[in-house]
Amino acid sequence: MFNSLSDRLTATFKNLRGKGRLSEADVDATVREIRRALLDADVAVPVVREFTAKVRERALGSEVNEALNPAQQIVKIVNEELVAILGGETRRINLAKNPPTVIMLAGLQGAGKTTLAGKLSKWLKGQGHSPLLVAADLQRPNAVKQLQVNGERAGVPVFAPHPGVSSEFESATGDPVAVALAGLAEAKSKLHDVVIVDTAGRLGIDAELMKQAADIRAAINPDEVLFVIDAMIGQDAVNTAQAFNEGVNFTGVVLTKLDGDARGGAALSVASITGKPVMFASTGESLDDFELFHPDRMASRILD
Ligand code: GDP
Repeated sequence: MFNSLSDRLTATFKNLRGKGRLSEADVDATVREIRRALLDADVAVPVVREFTAKVRERALGSEVNEALNPAQQIVKIVNEELVAILGGETRRINLAKNPPTVIMLAGLQGAGKTTLAGKLSKWLKGQGHSPLLVAADLQRPNAVKQLQVNGERAGVPVFAPHPGVSSEFESATGDPVAVALAGLAEAKSKLHDVVIVDTAGRLGIDAELMKQAADIRAAINPDEVLFVIDAMIGQDAVNTAQAFNEGVNFTGVVLTKLDGDARGGAALSVASITGKPVMFASTGESLDDFELFHPDRMASRILD
């Protein structure tokens, strides 16, 4: 997805071969290529600026590693900085000391939240957990049904505010905060150790949506708030991520549609701008197209 970066660097590095130490001009030429490649990959401008400044500073700095040639040295620096931006180590779910662990999902409509809810629940079930899905997206008429379908596929029960669903909390119908709280109560009474709460998304960021998400967050006090974002949205990722970060103070990011022809800049932009780690990647429409996000692997993919 970042093919252009490695291709461009290869060309630049050819000129560096055989040099013992990088001159300022060599470093600047390389950094220029990195800057162009990142911009082409849709990484946000301020992120590109900060990233390249750091790489330049380190490349010119005193870190001379005798075992590496100059080109290798820059690749090493770029790799380390990419890993750092993407969150360093793979970040695991923060499990509650007193179950249930509560995970809330937030993001724009169409980002892939409902699909992710199914994927995450299936993955957790495979790890020996007993999850409950809670349908607190009452905005889109089909969202509850869609979560029920995903839950069925994952073999995970869904708490939904529908008449006819056997529950003592049917009075919660219509109010997403009440539904989320009722779902949590249901999880406790049925001894589920993880609760995944799907919330409403809109096509654009709007104040009402954000308030609703913030109200749900305040009511259920989640252990994780995962911001689900479509990797294809490019430069828009930054504004969206900032708005959700201010609105719900999310704890981690899930990138979806990484199977598409996304140029991947969203990953770097969101992680860098918000300082929150990318935790999972969604790579297709099937419930198994889901993986833990590994910053080091993503960095290698960018540089390969
Ligand atoms: P929500 O509005 O955020 O709940 O989004 P949905 O879960 O309904 O997903 C929107 C569309 O994107 C659906 O057609 C999904 O099948 C599709 N989708 C979700 N995740 C992925 C993914 O990782 N890759 C691809 N190719 N499609 C996805």
